[in-house]
Amino acid sequence: MRASLTSRLQTSSAQITKVYGMLLLGLMVAMCLSVTTLVGINALHNTHQQAHNVLKGLRDTYVLNRDDWYWWRVGSPVDSRSTFIRVTTETPKKDTVSTRHTKDFVKKTADAKKIFGDLYFSQDAGFYYYMTTTQKVQDGKQTVSAKYQLWMSLTNAVNLLLTLLRIISGLMLLFFLLGTGFIYGLAKRLNRPLVNLTQYTKVLNDNNWSQAVDSLPVPTKPTEVRELSIEFNQLLHSINQQAENDRQFVSNVSHELKTPIAGIRGHVELIQRHGKRDPKMVPDALAVIDRESLRMQRMIESLLNLSHASQLTIDRQPTDLVPLVAKVVGDYQRQIAQDIMLVADDSVRRRVNSATVEQIFLALLNNAGKYSPPTGIITVRVTNKEISVSDVGPGISNGDKARVFERFYRGSQTGANSTVKGTGLGLAIVKQLVALNHGDIQILDNQPTGSRFLMHFPTDS
Ligand code: ADP
Repeated sequence: MRASLTSRLQTSSAQITKVYGMLLLGLMVAMCLSVTTLVGINALHNTHQQAHNVLKGLRDTYVLNRDDWYWWRVGSPVDSRSTFIRVTTETPKKDTVSTRHTKDFVKKTADAKKIFGDLYFSQDAGFYYYMTTTQKVQDGKQTVSAKYQLWMSLTNAVNLLLTLLRIISGLMLLFFLLGTGFIYGLAKRLNRPLVNLTQYTKVLNDNNWSQAVDSLPVPTKPTEVRELSIEFNQLLHSINQQAENDRQFVSNVSHELKTPIAGIRGHVELIQRHGKRDPKMVPDALAVIDRESLRMQRMIESLLNLSHASQLTIDRQPTDLVPLVAKVVGDYQRQIAQDIMLVADDSVRRRVNSATVEQIFLALLNNAGKYSPPTGIITVRVTNKEISVSDVGPGISNGDKARVFERFYRGSQTGANSTVKGTGLGLAIVKQLVALNHGDIQILDNQPTGSRFLMHFPTDS
């Protein structure tokens, strides 16, 4: 349970949501702070401006006694619930006038602490602004002086700020929850194909690979998962193909070996039963046993070659193919009826492994000898333009061209009913050896008749 919770928290959707949530939270806190700071600064600035204007008004209208005060009050729009003004005249006589509630407010500011500039805070009065200025006027011989004091409560502004803060935080919380929920959903949706892929792979691992050829669902998006699924399907397909080939191979081997064994066993029994009575049939039966055992021997050798070639790692060296192929042709000419014509340049250098190239040419010459008439000419070309083995036999049909490199496949014209002996393994070995040399081989039609095995090997450089 615990492990599954931990692994759930490690999923990419959880990770994406976490990162996004933290980003969103950071962004919202930053926004919240900047909005409230801006609004706060603006409110302070306005208050400062208002206070300044009020004091300026008092000074400009020379409020120096009760009459001046009365007329100033009549014309001034000051809100006496939040702005408190006191005018104190020292000369010619001491007098104090103030707006309503000033006394009460000033009492509340007894424990006030200065925050900065003209901004103060007291437990009872809250935040407020305090400014003061004096005025001195020479009236004939006497000097008239007055002190103006102003307190401006910021309670309304602070309340407004708090309300704003609450609204913004509420909205942000809402956006945060909606945003993270949305992102979580989106991340889950995007990851679903990946999760499906994983589950599917698990099912495949638990059950049987071959049950699911190419059947992995391929989503249209996201692109990465789509590509992964396609690649996975291809991998699946080639694994299944390989498994199928292996099954086919084993069944072919057993089938191919069964036939000569049955022939051998049959003739051994024949000798055992009738050998004494009819000694004349013994040499014929022995000939069949000899032929079938030879066939088995050839097939086993080919199989060993094939398995050897699949495990072989070869050393490739820059090699001149002309003398190498000329020697193979010279040696092989003695074994077949057809004439072998070698068309060669002075030198054709390729990076190959000479032993395996000899094997390739030997196998191709062997087939050319087997499948073409004794009078036909076999042409071996080793030029810088073309490396090939051609004959004037029956050729290979287009349908067979794609298949003759498969193990045990024997062409339709030369198949099971053919008098030409073979195992269907020669070209499979050739193909493997060519691939080991990093080359390729293809079959073309020879003109006017026959087949042409065309090869490419990497150049020397
Ligand atoms: P095998 O010769 O033992 O049957 P290979 O793998 O060498 O097996 O060849 C596979 C098949 O390709 C042959 O059965 C034959 O049908 C066809 N083939 C190969 N070489 C030639 C050729 N030179 N001319 C015509 N058919 C050929």
